[in-house]
Amino acid sequence: AAPGSAPGAAVASHCPYCALQCAQTLTSTPGERLPVAVSGRQFPTNRGGLCQKGWTSAEVLRASDRITTPRIRTADGGFRTATWVEALDLVAGRIRQIQAESGDDAVAVFGGGGLTNEKAYALGKFARLALHTRLIDYNGRFCMSSAAAASNRTLGMDRGLAFPLSDLGGADAILILGSNMGVTMPPFVQHLAGVRERGGLIVVDPRATVTAKLAANGAGVHLAPVPGSDMVVLLALLHIVLAEGLADLDYLEVRVNGLDAVRRSVAQWWPERAEAETGIPADTLREVARLLAAASPSRGGRGAYILTGRGVEQMSQGTACVSAAINLALALGLVGREGSGYGPVTGQGNGQGGREHGQKSDQLPGYRMITDPATRAHVAAVWGVDPARIPGPGVPAVQLLSSLGTPGGPRALMVHGSNVVVSAPNATRVEERLKALDLLVVCDLVPSETALLADVILPVTQWAEEDGTMTNLEGRIIRRRAAVDAPGEARSELWILGELARRLGCDAVFSDEPEVMFDEMARASAGGKADYSGVTYARLDAGEELFWPVPAAPAGDAPHPGTPRPFLDRFPTPDGRATMHAVAHHGPADDVRPGMTTYLVTGRVLQHYQSGAQTRRVKELVQAQPEPFVEMHPLLAERYGLSEGAVAFLASERGEAMARVRLTTDIRVDTVFMPFHWAGAGSANRLTNDVTDPTSAMPEFKVTAVEIRAAHQL
Ligand code: SF4
Repeated sequence: AAPGSAPGAAVASHCPYCALQCAQTLTSTPGERLPVAVSGRQFPTNRGGLCQKGWTSAEVLRASDRITTPRIRTADGGFRTATWVEALDLVAGRIRQIQAESGDDAVAVFGGGGLTNEKAYALGKFARLALHTRLIDYNGRFCMSSAAAASNRTLGMDRGLAFPLSDLGGADAILILGSNMGVTMPPFVQHLAGVRERGGLIVVDPRATVTAKLAANGAGVHLAPVPGSDMVVLLALLHIVLAEGLADLDYLEVRVNGLDAVRRSVAQWWPERAEAETGIPADTLREVARLLAAASPSRGGRGAYILTGRGVEQMSQGTACVSAAINLALALGLVGREGSGYGPVTGQGNGQGGREHGQKSDQLPGYRMITDPATRAHVAAVWGVDPARIPGPGVPAVQLLSSLGTPGGPRALMVHGSNVVVSAPNATRVEERLKALDLLVVCDLVPSETALLADVILPVTQWAEEDGTMTNLEGRIIRRRAAVDAPGEARSELWILGELARRLGCDAVFSDEPEVMFDEMARASAGGKADYSGVTYARLDAGEELFWPVPAAPAGDAPHPGTPRPFLDRFPTPDGRATMHAVAHHGPADDVRPGMTTYLVTGRVLQHYQSGAQTRRVKELVQAQPEPFVEMHPLLAERYGLSEGAVAFLASERGEAMARVRLTTDIRVDTVFMPFHWAGAGSANRLTNDVTDPTSAMPEFKVTAVEIRAAHQL
C-alpha cells in the first residue's frame, strides 16, 4: 500500500471505529467511487488483524440512506433538500438572530471523539472565535474524562496507555478492570499472549466476558465483584501490598508523594471486609496482590500493568476509582518503568486526540487549561486575535445537554460526530431537551436518531473520503488518508466551519485543507503537554512512529523523536514526582434497593460501535446482531418467569426499556447486561443515570438499579 496514493489506488489508512485504530489498506477501482475493498495491514497495534467491524467498514460508504445534500426541516415536520448556500445562510442567520436576542452563550456546540484531530481543533476554534460561546463540550466526556482527571492529578499528564501496546507482551502480570477488549477490540488480545502463557492475566468484571475467559485454564484469574464495588477490590489490593511489605519503597521514596495519607485511607479495607463488600474471597484478593507484586521489577519480575476501562471509569466515583488503580500501580513501582505501567484503554477512535485540541469545555489546544493566562496568550497569538476574545470555561457535557432549551439556557446547538439521543445517559431527557431548542444543526453522514431531530442537517465526509490525523490509545499520531471521493455534495466539517465562520463575520482563518489545519494546530499546541509542534504530515507519511509530546526541534537540530514512554525519567509535575491521592469508596449513586433489586451494567458487542449509527447500517453486522437484548442468569430469569427469547421489561428511575432475554451463566445472578447500541424501546441509555463524578463530570453509565418483569411483546 502506498501512503498518500491518489484515489483509485491502494491507500494506507486506519479503521473508522475504535481507538486501536487498526491499520487498513483501502483499495478502490480506478475511476470508480465504489466499491472499496478493505484488508488488514501490518502495524504495531493490530499486527495485520481487523475485527468484523473493520472488515466490513467500507459498507458504510454506500449506506442506502447516506445524506448527500443539505436538508432543512419543513413545516410539516419532514425535510427538504437545499443548496449549501441556502443551508449555511439559514444556519448563520438564525445563529446571529438568537445570539442578538439572548447573548453569545445562547448557542452551544457538541463535538465527538471520532472527529480527526484537525476537526476537533477547528471546532474548538470555531466555538471560541466565530460563535464566541463558552459552551462547547463533547462526547469524550462520557468516555475518558475520569481516567483523564485521575491521570492528570496523579501523574501530571493523561497520555492514554503512555507506552507502546507491544510492551504488554513482556509482562508477568496484567490487571484489567472493566474492559472487555476481547470483544470491543479483538486484535488487542494478541498483546496478552505472553502474560497468559505465564499465568498472570487478572480480569475484574461482573461478567465472564470473552476477556475474562482468556484468564481461564491456568492463564490467570477472573474476579466478578458486585457491580460498583471494583474500587474496593483496588483498595483491598493496596491494603494487602502495604500490609505484607510488598510495596516498592525505594521507588516510592524517590518518585512518589502522598503515601502516608493513602496508607491511612486503605487501612480499613482488610481482605475480609473487602470480601463482604465485593463478594471476592479474601484469599483470592491476597493471591492477586501477591501475583502482581511478584511481577514487579522491584521483586525480580518481568513487569506488570494495570489497565482500566469504562466499567470502572463510568461511575460517579470514577476519578477516585482510577486514582485507586494508579495508587496501586505506584505502590508496586510500576509507572515510569519500561515494561510496566498504568493506562486507560481508550474506546473511541480519536478519544485521545479528541480531548487534546480544545473541544473540551475547559481546555485550549495542547491539553491546557483555558483559564491559564499564558495558554490564552499563546493560542490567541496563533489565532491572530486578542486573548480577551477567547471566552472562559463552559460546562461539561451532561450539564450542557440538561440546560438546552431551559430558561436562560442555550437556544441553539450544533452537533458534530455524536448521536446523543442514543449515547447520552438518561437519553429520554436528552431527547426532550433537543426538542426544546429553537435551532438544532447536526453534521452527520447518515440520518442518525439525533440528526432526525434537527432543523438543518449538513452532510459530511467520512473516514475513507478524507485526509487527517487521529491519535490512538497509545498516544501515537497516525495518518488517515482519502481513498475515494465523497458522494454528492457531502463536505468536510473543515469546509463547513470555515463557511459558517465567514458568514458570522469572523475574521480568523479556517482552512479546509487538513494539512494546513494540522500545522496550525501543531503551532497552537507548542509548549503544552500534548505538544504536536514537531509533527508534520511529511514525517507521518515517511512512516515515523510519533507518540506525543513531539516538540519542535531548535533550528539546525534533528527532529524530536517523540515520546513513547513519557514517565521514564520524571513525571511532568512541578517536582517531577507522582502524587498519590487518598480516596474513599461511596459506591454507586443508584444502588439496588427494594423495588429496584437488580444491577444493570451496559457495554458493547463485537458487531456494533457506540450508538450504532454506522454499524447498524452494515448488513453483515446487523445479521449477526440484529436487535437489543438483555443478558441474565437463568436463576434470575426464573424469578421473573422469563425464558430464552422472552421479552423483558426493565424500569429504572429515569425510564423504561424492553429487550429479548438471552440466558447465560456468565453473569452474576444479581446483574443484567444490555448493550447500548440501539435507539427506541431497546435503548439501554433510557435507563442509565446522568448523575456525574464531581471531579471529571463523567456520568454513571455503568451501574443502574432496575426492576424487571415479563412483557408480552416488543
Ligand atoms: Fe480494529 Fe477497532 Fe476497527 Fe475493530 S473496530 S478493526 S478493533 S480499530
